[in-house]
Amino acid sequence: MKKTKQTHRIKVNHKRELIQSLKDITDSKKENKEIRKDNVYLSELLKLSVDLLEVTEIDQVFRKIVEAAVHVIGLDTGAIYQIHNHKLQLQFTYPPMPDDFPDEFRKALLSKHPHIGKVVDSCAPLVVRDIQEENLTAEEMVIVDAHDMRSLLYIPLQTQKSVVGVLILGTVGRSFGFTEREIDLSRTLSNIISMSLENSFLFEKLNEKVQELQDTVQRLRLVYRAIDQSPVSIIITDPKGIIEYVNPKFTEITGFTLEEAAGKTPGILKSGYQPKIFYKNLWETITSGKNWVGEIKNKNKNGEFYWESVVISPMLDEHRKITHFIAVKEDITEKKQLFENLVIAKEKAEESASLKTAFIHNISHEIRTPLNAIVGFSGFLAKPNLDEETRHKYVDTINQSNNQLLGIINDIINISHIETNQVSIKDSSTNIRKVFGNLHRQFQLDADKKGLDFRINIDVDESELTLITDEGKLIQIISNLLDNAFKFTCEGFVELGCRRGNGSLEFYVEDTGIGIPGQEHKKIFERFYQVDKAISRGYGGTGLGLAISFAYVELLGGKFSLKSTPGKGSVFSFTIPYRK
Ligand code: ADP
Repeated sequence: MKKTKQTHRIKVNHKRELIQSLKDITDSKKENKEIRKDNVYLSELLKLSVDLLEVTEIDQVFRKIVEAAVHVIGLDTGAIYQIHNHKLQLQFTYPPMPDDFPDEFRKALLSKHPHIGKVVDSCAPLVVRDIQEENLTAEEMVIVDAHDMRSLLYIPLQTQKSVVGVLILGTVGRSFGFTEREIDLSRTLSNIISMSLENSFLFEKLNEKVQELQDTVQRLRLVYRAIDQSPVSIIITDPKGIIEYVNPKFTEITGFTLEEAAGKTPGILKSGYQPKIFYKNLWETITSGKNWVGEIKNKNKNGEFYWESVVISPMLDEHRKITHFIAVKEDITEKKQLFENLVIAKEKAEESASLKTAFIHNISHEIRTPLNAIVGFSGFLAKPNLDEETRHKYVDTINQSNNQLLGIINDIINISHIETNQVSIKDSSTNIRKVFGNLHRQFQLDADKKGLDFRINIDVDESELTLITDEGKLIQIISNLLDNAFKFTCEGFVELGCRRGNGSLEFYVEDTGIGIPGQEHKKIFERFYQVDKAISRGYGGTGLGLAISFAYVELLGGKFSLKSTPGKGSVFSFTIPYRK
């Protein structure tokens, strides 16, 4: 009996243990299942984090988040809203919204979605187990109805402690319990997604910055190309004027390469033409923050001078401090030369016009005087009872006037022949003593009239007094010089001379007349030119004699020279080649 009782107790205990053990096994199986499920969740989450690392584009991130979250928690739908300034923007839904879903519902005020509002305020997940038991706004209803949603889980998405979006996961046509484990899981999910969102926002900002940088680089490249290929030369210096950059045009004009110019100042181009004060003013202008505009004569590496039109501007930073100076320079040497030539041409044209006017004025006077004499005295000759002596005097005057008139007309014809290259040389054997003798006789009268000493000086060997040249032109050259010498001398002497030069004979006419100022020495050989207006000074003349003589000396192969001092006298001399 005792044994039976004992046996019964043992059996009961055994059964209890068995039940307990079965219960333990069931519990442990259950726990194992939960653990396995957790493991699956964790591996899914890990996979999602890795996946999210690979995408950076925000739209892709939204899509990945929604699809992965729906899958991990085992739900049917998902949507993601972005929040900005209390406004919602529906970014992505899974499955996509029906085609007829009105576009305006993708945007809404946060106040129209109170469930999302709660999540934003609490920063914590929100579970709605059955949507039918909730009061929904019209806006919420439209979304819920679009997918016939039943249970919903709202997960906040945070970046830098503010909610920037909400992920909404839900079931379609079935309710879902949402255990503590799943809510926990959604918190982990929220952290992972938030991090990834933050990353992609940062990436987006970075992208914008990179884009801005690329645009800036692009613009800088354009500016650099413009400067590099510029047709004007450009120098950039630091605030002390030390060169940092020069463009290829600078090198082309100055000969200095960038390597040679860098580290030096633009002073390497100084020509010495501008005074120190010029550069001082320039420097004061630009260091006071103003532009300097002007022209500078500079010198290139080869020592050649050139002119530049220059604009120098200070470059300022945001605090208006000068960081650089930039000089833009255009080579204007040719332009300047052209301009100078134009000025000279204009002055010449004006001078020539006024000379011509003076010439016409003179010539009419010069012609009228002898003509009047000829006409007047011819009339007197017709008078009856004219004694022989008076008639001779009249005839002499008429002859003199004739010669004077002829001289003027000859001068005009000669100068026009010279100008049209119609003068030819007629060589013949010419004896200087004979020529001088004739001229002496011819001009002695003028000398006597003015009480001047007329000297002849032949300093040449007798054997060399005959040469081959154009005798007529030689006589005319000397006549013109003697004419002037007697005309412009009131006292003293006039000397005609000749001496032997190296391969040439040198002739001269010296006088003790009024002389010619230095600045006029060149001009008096130009046609029509007279030192003072002929009529007002009372010497007469047409201003053609020296121009004709000068041209003839050149034609004969010689050279003219003049030494003269105002108030003391002049020596006109010329050479002609000595040919036998
Ligand atoms: P013209 O004597 O007819 O005026 P020229 O061509 O011979 O013309 O001379 C030009 C000018 O040169 C003169 O008008 C005069 O002003 C100056 N000149 C020439 N020879 C002399 C001289 N011997 N002494 C002073 N002036 C002179």
